[in-house]
Amino acid sequence: MKKVFTCIICPNGCNITAEIDGENIISILGNGCDKGMQYVKQELTVPKRTITSSVLVENGIIPLASVRITDPIPKERIPDMMTYIRSIKVAAPVEAGFVIDPNALGLETKLIVTKSVPYERKQK
Ligand code: SF4
Repeated sequence: MKKVFTCIICPNGCNITAEIDGENIISILGNGCDKGMQYVKQELTVPKRTITSSVLVENGIIPLASVRITDPIPKERIPDMMTYIRSIKVAAPVEAGFVIDPNALGLETKLIVTKSVPYERKQK
């Protein structure tokens, strides 16, 4: 059976056509590099994704800071990760690159801030 995949490992986004038999790859076309083969293998066995989202910020000039996980996690754990991210509140100021959690949900991925949020000075 033929199946088409869009590789998400790099911005090239190669469209890869693979002839597969269950979890086995018979042939592959369209991958710009060897990582495309690894990506298709992963999609056939344990598909993984990265997540971008935002967390609440206390006393910041804006109420949310954008965040992302640094390494892909199994697709089935995305709802758990989103619930976890929604439960987090950080205090301003928060800097881009700040590691909120070095091993989020024990899934060997860091949760990091991707946009700085300065502290909001209150008028007196
Ligand atoms: S196959 Fe290679 S070049 Fe193509 S998107 Fe994937 S990583 Fe990038």
